[in-house]
Amino acid sequence: TTNTNFTLSIEDLTVSFDGFKAVDKLNFYLDKNELHVVIGPNGAGKTTVLDLICGKTKATSGSIKFLNHELTGLSEHAIVRAGVGRKFQTPSIYENLTVLENLEVSYPEGRGVFGSLMFKRSEKVLNKIHEIAKEIMLEDELDRESGLLSHGQKQWLEIGMLLIQDPQLLMLDEPVAGMSVKEREQTAELLNKISQGRSVLVIEHDMEFVARIAQKVTVLHQGKILASGDMDTVQNDPKVIEVYLGH
Ligand code: ADP
Repeated sequence: TTNTNFTLSIEDLTVSFDGFKAVDKLNFYLDKNELHVVIGPNGAGKTTVLDLICGKTKATSGSIKFLNHELTGLSEHAIVRAGVGRKFQTPSIYENLTVLENLEVSYPEGRGVFGSLMFKRSEKVLNKIHEIAKEIMLEDELDRESGLLSHGQKQWLEIGMLLIQDPQLLMLDEPVAGMSVKEREQTAELLNKISQGRSVLVIEHDMEFVARIAQKVTVLHQGKILASGDMDTVQNDPKVIEVYLGH
């Protein structure tokens, strides 16, 4: 049964690679304002689920509805335009551009038009850039060359480059990998903030971080959901304990 109020409704989603089901009849729902973390052992299918949502991998069967539009069959580009943003582990910022310029080229109308940097920036775009820079804690670094930022700041900049495109769903793959303790804390706050008014889906291995941010946790195992709910429920689920102790 499809609840049309969800931002994301995944139903009976399956993908087979040479007969091996990496994702097996998955049902998964994501609400607006929801920050949801997917955990699970290596090879559980977490990355594949994100690849399916963003169109990088084509489903064998099943449905992915985003704001009531079917995503399966759409190109990656069309899925981005529909309002789905994804951050990979390795930041894809332009290291030789400033923070401001990175945000500017990511602004939907400025995208790919490096020539536009020569023109006077519109107030509307500048206001948006400042708003996002503040959100990602880089308001004092706007004129800094991005290559000189800390590892954590580069990750935040990339989140900002997605936010400026105004996604309704943001997917992040291990957002705190390699970050300092302080940066992890700040990222937890950032993710909580950006989930307001949006849906955020995170893959994470760091259980301390999961406990800190997750409103809802889903444990994937062999392409299927093993458990789903709040952190306490999931942590105490015997099936989950068995899978994690076995690794
Ligand atoms: P996780 O992110 O949970 O570690 P993945 O989604 O990366 O797991 O992988 C799930 C399973 O699917 C793994 O066994 C992996 O080897 C397999 N797999 C993923 N992508 C492909 C692909 N393009 N071709 C073949 N097998 C794949």
